[in-house]
This record gives sequence, C-alpha cells and structure tokens, in this order.
Amino acid sequence: MARLLPTSTAGSLPKPSWLAEPEVLWSPWKLEGEGLAEGKRDALRLALHEQRHAGIDIASDGEQSRQHFVTTFIEHLSGVDFNQRETVRIRDRYEASVPSVVGEVSRQKPVFVEDARFLRGQTDQPIKWALPGPMTMVDTLYDGHYKSREKLAWEFAKALNEEARELEAAGVDIIQFDEPAFNVFFDEVNDWGIATLEKAIDGLTCETAVHICYGYGIKANTDWKKTLGSEWRQYEEVFPRLQKSNIDIVSLECQNARVPMELIELIRGKKVMVGAIDVATQEIETPEEVAATLRKALQFVDAENLYPSTNCGMAPLPRHVARGKMQALAAGAAIVRKEVEG
Ligand SMILES: [Zn+2]
Repeated sequence: MARLLPTSTAGSLPKPSWLAEPEVLWSPWKLEGEGLAEGKRDALRLALHEQRHAGIDIASDGEQSRQHFVTTFIEHLSGVDFNQRETVRIRDRYEASVPSVVGEVSRQKPVFVEDARFLRGQTDQPIKWALPGPMTMVDTLYDGHYKSREKLAWEFAKALNEEARELEAAGVDIIQFDEPAFNVFFDEVNDWGIATLEKAIDGLTCETAVHICYGYGIKANTDWKKTLGSEWRQYEEVFPRLQKSNIDIVSLECQNARVPMELIELIRGKKVMVGAIDVATQEIETPEEVAATLRKALQFVDAENLYPSTNCGMAPLPRHVARGKMQALAAGAAIVRKEVEG
C-alpha cells in the first residue's frame, strides 16, 4: 500500500432494506431470480460508494451478495446437507441448528469469483475479499462423516485454497480469512488451526489476512465478553504460533476491548489491522477516539504495518451508523497519519 495507515472495514456492511431485512443475521432475501442477482450487484455498488465516500482506502464488497459469512461458502460445497440439521454449540457459546456433513466435502464450482471480478471492475482502489477460515467453518457444522474436526478442516482448507487462487486471479489484493474460532479453541489453533490456514493460502502471491475477533455485536457475544474478566488475554495463546506463520496481516478487535494492547508485540513483524471501531454499540466514535486507539497500537506495531480497521463486521448495524463509523475511522486515521508523517 502506497499510503500510510490505509483504512478498511473487517468485512460486512448493512444491506439495503430492499434487498434483505436490515439489522439481522441470516436475513432472507427480498428478491429472487435475476432480480436478486441484479439487486446484489446494485447493493455491492452502493457499499463500494459508501466506503469511498467515507474515505476507506481498501474496499470490500461489504458481503452484500452473501447471507452469512460462513454459511454462504459452505452452501456451495458438496458433502453438506442443509436439510439434515443438528443442534450444536457454536464457539462453545450458543446453540444453533446447523447443517450436517454427510459425505466428502469439495468445491464443485467457484463461489465468490464472479462477485470479486465485478468489484474489481468497479474500482481502482486495492480490494480485500473475506472468506471463512477452516476452523470457523468446522465449528459451524455437525460432522457425521469425518468425525474429526481436524480432518474436516484440512478438506475445507483445500476448497478454500482453490477459491483463493481464483480470487487472486480475479484481481483481489488481500484475501482475508475470518477465524473468530481462534479466540476460543487455543489448543486446536496451535495444533492444526494455523496449519490448515497456511494450506488455504498455499501458493498465493497476493496479501493474506486472518481476522480474529470477539464476534458481531449480537447478544450471545456481548454476554460472553462479560464473562472474560477485566483483561482479555485470548490473543496471547495464539499469537506466538501466528507470528511464525506465513500469514501477512492479522486483523484484531481493539476498540473498547479489554485486550491489553501490548499483546500486539507478540506478532511483531506482521501487518496489523487494528480494530478502532466498536461494532457492538451504535454510538459513533469521534475521530479523536479512533486516533487514541491507533496511537496506542503504534507503540507495538511500526507505522508502515498499521492498518486501521473495524473490530468486526457491521452487518447488524443500521446503515447510517455504519456510515458514520466508517467516516470516523477515516478521519481518525487521517489525524494519526499527519502526526506520523510530521
Ligand atoms: Zn469479526
């Protein structure tokens, strides 16, 4: 990136109300057939416009063409039966009725490649595309076939790698893998979570990122955070192994989080997407609040490696709030950029 402190969002943005019911996850589409396909592209154009207007440097699709950050990818794989549902605990936090793995999983066709090509055609800005990470995918399913979280993760990594290579060919500059599960299953992360992620990025020449957050601002997550005590040291468990990995960028939750900022020292050398926008509140940060978080992060990450971002996706927020938060992010980054450049 040519510009210091390039801004981006973690991924999802609210959808327009004519496309899907706002402020809910897994919201059903309001259009169908060709109308839906066109509606998704129009929503993507809007999302891009709002990011550019707010001053976001690295653009994403705002996940306008997917219902959910994990499920939509899995829907395109074979071996998963969406009608055969079982109740499991997701991230050890809440129960959900989920699809079942009933046979070998594999990617039959491209999932987001057309959408990425469309986004690429709409802007000359650097673009980032988010995919779910293998461990978070495993944690969102009932597995009656492999009966091994690790084995299933390796299969998902293969499918993700096929998709990632085609996204790169479509002109994506940064491919991001969302791994909120990295904040929960530490032994597995160190055992096979990061290894499967490295399989997913195998052979890529574009930049790669892993997004590790404390989740969307939904009740199950905010309730869970209340149980984590005064200091959140979850990142400490996975950073040493992550620092040694081939992943270029680590995307973290920092704004209003009880994460001790000095933990970032453990991934020294990596680029860090510092979450300077809280997605669990509708209160819009002031540029100065954003700047304060970025200044704190600068103690532990070199300026050329600092990428101001949001804590997580903003899909569940009202659109005007998401817009305000993107503007605050860009304005806060501008304050600190000026200080750094002198
Ligand atoms: Zn997140």
